[in-house]
Amino acid sequence: MNKPTLTATLLAAVIAAGFTARAADNKPAGKDEPAPVGYEGTPQIPGSQWRVHQAERPQPRVVTPGGSCVEGAAQPPADAVVLFDGKDLSQWRDDKGGPARWKVENGYIEVAPKTGYMFTKDEFGDVQLHLEWRPPTPPKGDSQKRSNSGVFFFGKTYEVQILDSFKNRSYADGHAGAIYGQYPPLVNAVRPPGEWQSYDIIFTAPKFDGEKVVKPATVTAFINGIIVQNHAEYLGASGHKKLPGYKPHGPKGPIGLQDHGDPIRFRNIWLRELKGYDE
Ligand code: MG
Repeated sequence: MNKPTLTATLLAAVIAAGFTARAADNKPAGKDEPAPVGYEGTPQIPGSQWRVHQAERPQPRVVTPGGSCVEGAAQPPADAVVLFDGKDLSQWRDDKGGPARWKVENGYIEVAPKTGYMFTKDEFGDVQLHLEWRPPTPPKGDSQKRSNSGVFFFGKTYEVQILDSFKNRSYADGHAGAIYGQYPPLVNAVRPPGEWQSYDIIFTAPKFDGEKVVKPATVTAFINGIIVQNHAEYLGASGHKKLPGYKPHGPKGPIGLQDHGDPIRFRNIWLRELKGYDE
């Protein structure tokens, strides 16, 4: 039998030391139990050596952003659709089509836990989206239980993850900036909890020919000005512990913000609808 190399031994020790929360298994975490930092028995991700939410997948490298997220630094340009300007939720609805029920105060929106996702009343296809979010401080919970939310395109279909990933071990494909369950962020670019963070997302919608996807959805995203997804192609809808694949849909859909039970704040939300050359 081969002796393990020093590098392999060190790597194993580092991985083991990283399991500060709870060993990966398939049991759902109870209310007060630590949240899992990975799962066993999940599907292999196509084109990857890793499985969905695999605990051993390397943690994204930390890159400390420069400066701070200054209010008003990314004011909406002239052709933007303003989704939240600090005043009201007139552009939003709840997940049943009723009035949006999240809290608005002091120029920000705060998730009202257990009221459900919030969706734009209008529908969009290819967009450049800007928003700012702030995880609460002091942080509560760990792994996926710490300040979890997300930006969703086409209803609850394609997620770009929001999480307080600051000194918080979780599975790599669940960190802030991840395409949940598919691609980790290229780096971990979050600021500490209690600070505002910026998200700039360029999302292009998938195209279908009947039941077949002929062009996958793609995303390029920046957190705090640092690229975390570089024209990544969605493998299909976002799923927890699974890879659901594509289901055909129309060219436009609502944009959603996730209620995962944590009082995340949002401000300065706007988008530009992307057009082609000469349009
Ligand atoms: Mg989420």
